[in-house]
Parts: sequence; C-alpha cells; structure tokens
Amino acid sequence: ESIQVGELAKKLNLKPGDVIGRLMKMGEMVTINKVIDAETAALVATEFGCEVRVVSLYDETIIKEEEDLAEAMVRRPPVVTIMGHVDHGKTRLLDTIRSTNVIDTEAGAITQHIGAYQVETPQGRITFLDTPGHEAFTAMRARGASVTDIVILVVAADDGVKEQTVEAITHAKEANVPIIVAVNKIDLPNANPDKVKQALVPHGLQPEDWGGTTVFCEISAKNNIGIEHLLEMVLLQAELLDLKANPTVKAVGRVVEARVDPGKGPVATVLVQKGTLREGDPFVVGVYSGRVRAMFDDFNHRLKEAGPATPVEITGLDGVPGSGDPFHVLETEKEAREFASVRQHYKQITEASQRAQPSLRTLDNWMASHKEIKLIVKGDVHGSVEAIRDGLLKLSDDEVKVRVIYAATGGITESDVTLAAASEALILGFQVRASVSATDLAEKNGVDIRYYSIIYALLEDIKKAMTGMLEPTY
Ligand code: GDP
Repeated sequence: ESIQVGELAKKLNLKPGDVIGRLMKMGEMVTINKVIDAETAALVATEFGCEVRVVSLYDETIIKEEEDLAEAMVRRPPVVTIMGHVDHGKTRLLDTIRSTNVIDTEAGAITQHIGAYQVETPQGRITFLDTPGHEAFTAMRARGASVTDIVILVVAADDGVKEQTVEAITHAKEANVPIIVAVNKIDLPNANPDKVKQALVPHGLQPEDWGGTTVFCEISAKNNIGIEHLLEMVLLQAELLDLKANPTVKAVGRVVEARVDPGKGPVATVLVQKGTLREGDPFVVGVYSGRVRAMFDDFNHRLKEAGPATPVEITGLDGVPGSGDPFHVLETEKEAREFASVRQHYKQITEASQRAQPSLRTLDNWMASHKEIKLIVKGDVHGSVEAIRDGLLKLSDDEVKVRVIYAATGGITESDVTLAAASEALILGFQVRASVSATDLAEKNGVDIRYYSIIYALLEDIKKAMTGMLEPTY
C-alpha cells in the first residue's frame, strides 16, 4: 500500500510543503506527486501527531448496499463448482448436465461459453460455474469473491483418489463450502466405487451409509447415469443451506470472467448475488463503469432482467474487469464513473507500491549466506546516486561490509544484471526501471532487483538485512 505525497497532506490536513519538508528531513527527496509507501507515510503522520490506517482499494470506495429486509428474502438457486482430478470427468459432467437440462428447448440452440450457466430441473434451478477446478475457485476467493455454495467433487471410480482430488478437498474445506462426492465412470468394468469411498474417509468425507454426513452419488457422465439424482442431492443440500437473497434491491454481483468480444466490445459475465439486474442499469465493476446495454445467457439469448444466482453476459462496459471483481448497480451513470475513477487512481498507486516493494525474502535468504553485501546502484540522477552510495557505505560496520561495486545513472540493463550475477550482487534501482530483457535475465539468473523511490526506505531495507545476518555477540 502506498500514497501520493499530496494525497497524504490532504488527508493529514496539512500543506503539501510541510509534508515534503518533513520527508526531506528524513532523507526523502520527494515532490508532491511522488508515491511513498505506507510505512513512510505512517512515520511522517506520527511526526505530525496523526495515526495512519492502511486501507485497500475497495475499502476506499465502499458502496453502501441497500438493506435486506427479512420479508424480502427469497430462495435462490445454489451456485455450484465442479472440482476433481484431471481426466476424472469434470468437463464431461458439466456438458451432460447442461445438455440434458436446458431451460430453453429450442432445437439447435448453440451454447456459448460465458463462464457459468443455469439449468432448470424439476426440483429447481442450479447455477454452475463452468470453469472447473480449484485454481479458478481459489483465485476468485483470493479476490474476496466466495460465490460457490456447493462443490461437486468428481472422482473417477476406476482411478480413485488422486493428488488433485485431495487438493480440491482442502480448497473447498478452506472455503467452508460443503462437498458432494460424485463417483464417476461407474460404467467402466474396472470401476470400484467402494474403494473411492474408503479412500475419502481419511479426508473427512464419510458416506452417509457408513455413518457419516457426506453425500456420495454414483454416476456416469458419459452414459448419463445418476445425474438426475446428483442434481436432486445438490438441491437438497441447498435447502439445508437455506440460500436466500433479496431480489428487490439494486443488483450486486461478481465477475465470473470478462473479455473483449470482437463484435460487442468489452463483455463480462456477472453472477448476480442479490437484487435484480436490468437492461439500462448504470454500474461500477472493479475499476470500470458503464450501463447495461444488453444482457445474454449462455445461449446468446437476450435477457431483460436477471435475479439472484443468475449468470449473465453484459455489454456496455468501458473496460475489461478481472474475475472476482465486485459489481454494483448505482443510481446514476455519473456516480458509477466517479467510483470507477477513484478506484483506478488507487489501483495505480497500489501497483506502483507493489513494484517498489518486492518481498524481502530474497534479500534475507541472500544475506544468510554472506558476510559482505555487494550492491549495484542505478539511479535517475547523479545527486541521488551519490547520496545513496554515501549512505550505504556508512552502513558498513565491523561485522558486515557493504560494498557498492557499481553505481551509475540510468535504467537497469542486461550488463548490470550480468555483473550482478557474476559477483553475487544485489541491484538497487532508485527511480529507474529495468528493461524487459534485463528483468528476464535477472529472473533466469536469480538476481534480485529491488526498486525504491525513497532513499530512506532503501537504506532501511539494507540495514534490516544486515542486522538479520549479524552474529550474536555475548
Ligand atoms: P476433466 O479433465 O476432469 O474435465 O475430464 P473430462 O471431462 O475431460 O473427461 C476425461 C475423459 O474421461 C474423457 O475422455 C471423457 O470422455 C471420459 N469420461 C468422462 N466421464 C466418463 C464416464 O462417466 N465414463 C467413461 N467411460 N468415460 C468418461
């Protein structure tokens, strides 16, 4: 996390000059537009008697959602993700479910992959995310988007419990999502469903008929055996979960996937989580905004509205958001644009700070095995390069030597990296970047390049690394 100096001054209710002056005293050569890291910002703030709380991109732009009145809550379809080991039949199962439970029976309707689809069964509707596997599931979760209510764990009866089966269990459990086991490929002569059941018990999935609570369904995705029963079990589980949402409020959802369509422009599949999404609704999604120009289902049918747990592909965005990005309908397009622009601003700052603060791990590891720290310093102007070199040399003490083997102005080049690799040095970039080829080469050779925009932060890092390696003296 980080902040612009001018922004910080505003938040602290101070003149930018005061903040810049204080930073200068701390050894930071900054201007009003410079981005400083959260730690430095906090330090300056304390100097002025203020406390700093670091917030994230979306915290800064909290959208007040409408209140859900109990009487407005209605049952909604469950959202299901299919997981399991590769080749155990996840894709086949998704296809079979879709083709045998089409809401629209129009002959020859061509399905579009939009990342999710909904089916209608005699017992009710179910929404499937059709990017199977735990990678996408966990990637979404990492972005704060826990959209899955139930996981169907597919295990091939002829192959049994495999590495990714266990991974999937871990991921689902981590997310607190209930698992229904689908023992697949029971049509095969060497299918052994009991063996699968036994193998899952140590992983906490005990079949009901063995005294446990996990539902096991024996299916063949290929021959369409047991699928209906599986879907019934999904809906039964959904009933236990008592999944409800308020369809009367402004729509709130999450992006399942997004892309640029050659004909439609940027499109995003949004899973509506609550409220009802309608054509013409203004919205903000991630760092973008727009107005719903048109909505489509997975048969490319145009929809006028979409309620809770319905996935729809929408057009009318001004950019391509990321999977898991939050989606909110707002009162006006103007409001939506404002939210988007604030978020864009924060995103830029966040990215700048991520570039400026790679993890300390590499440096720590490196220091553990050395008593001398060799550095290559590249900076934007001669003055700062000299200031850094002097500062670094002063850090040297009896136990750890700091050596600047090369210091110059200009961007980080391949030859800097080669030098660093050969001499086991670290590269410090001050207000400069590495070329793409230099970055690649550094990655290949395990050369650590660290970027800074504040001298103080640079010196602090090196100092920290040095103390980390100092041998205890008694
Ligand atoms: P995924 O990697 O988990 O998505 O697996 P796929 O759905 O691609 O299936 C892998 C292979 O298993 C494909 O050749 C499928 O046709 C086959 N398969 C899937 N389900 C069944 C089944 O119920 N019975 C048989 N015999 N083969 C199946």
